[in-house]
Amino acid sequence: MTPEDEVRFRACLDDVAAYKPGRPPERTDGRPTYKLSSNENPYPPLPGVLAAAMEAAANMNRYPDMGALELLEALSERFGVPVTDLAVGTGSVAVLYHLLQAACGEGDEVVYAWRSFEAYPIAVQLTGATSVQVPLTEDARHDFKAMEAALTDRTRVVLVCTPNNPTGPVVRRDELLAFLDVVPRNVLVVLDEAYREFIREPETVDGAEVYRDRPNVVVLRTFSKAYGLAGFRIGYAIAHPPIVAAIRKCALPFGVSQIAQSAAIASLEAEDELLERVDALVTERTRVVAELRAAGWDVPETHANFVWMPLGGETLAFAEAAQAEGVSVRPFPGDGARVTIGEREANDLFLDVARSWRQ
Ligand SMILES: *Cc1c(COP(=O)(O)O)cnc(C)c1O
Repeated sequence: MTPEDEVRFRACLDDVAAYKPGRPPERTDGRPTYKLSSNENPYPPLPGVLAAAMEAAANMNRYPDMGALELLEALSERFGVPVTDLAVGTGSVAVLYHLLQAACGEGDEVVYAWRSFEAYPIAVQLTGATSVQVPLTEDARHDFKAMEAALTDRTRVVLVCTPNNPTGPVVRRDELLAFLDVVPRNVLVVLDEAYREFIREPETVDGAEVYRDRPNVVVLRTFSKAYGLAGFRIGYAIAHPPIVAAIRKCALPFGVSQIAQSAAIASLEAEDELLERVDALVTERTRVVAELRAAGWDVPETHANFVWMPLGGETLAFAEAAQAEGVSVRPFPGDGARVTIGEREANDLFLDVARSWRQ
């Protein structure tokens, strides 16, 4: 086969790094293992949510409701936003892909903090646009002054992740509003609030409020984390109708299954119970952070369901040590490891590894 015979793909695909999913833990001695590498919710589904999903599964010969109308109505009621300001997708990452596909291409720039969510560089690169990564501050927060300085006339999109995955801090309301005031109104600002339900900081921004008088702001939320539906792939955007229309144009027809839609509706109905579980995870988070700090670890504040271990060059070795104890964490080699807050036994095992690492 000569090179002329090879199927051609767009040049922007050439060095796309594959998304690395969190590793499952592996042990052979029969002791329990825990996956703290993918920010999953450790609680099993609520019976009512499972029943709704099973009922929907009985109709798998039918296409799902393409407009997800019942779910949009439930979300509209829950957040007090019009149905016309909502779009669903197969996870909020899919919604982000649609947004970027709709907004940018070759020659355009997308500005975001770094380190942040691993999916961002991949999603940007697939459009042919260029990532402009702005380093986080010393305390692992967005540096909005530097992000402002990174804006050019090629900037089409700015991504703001709050709480920031994988470091944990939230964006404060005042700093975001000041930033939005300097971003040109024709630049899309994506507020990724995947961990919103885990925030316990009163000064945080609420995207569902901020977007109201800002036609260039879009909020991304998901059922994957607090609501425990990661396996069903369902998330949504809140934004003004022109943005919603652009997302819908790019979305895969019938992408969100009826099982996912039904489970999401049932989850909104069972929200009180689900948010109690989030409370329990937040209590665990507080305990884990306190114990890490007591053991001498300098971990940043976190308002998500994970904690950031700034391990630098020791990151991979730490991840291996945790793996050997039956806990998988998410290493970012040379930088640090992100560790999900899981069930208590899992957190205890991780704390053991972290304590002995410092001795
Ligand atoms: C988990 C996560 C998402 C949501 O992912 P889904 O595609 O909805 O499962 C979005 N943004 C960030 C920063 C995340 O960590």
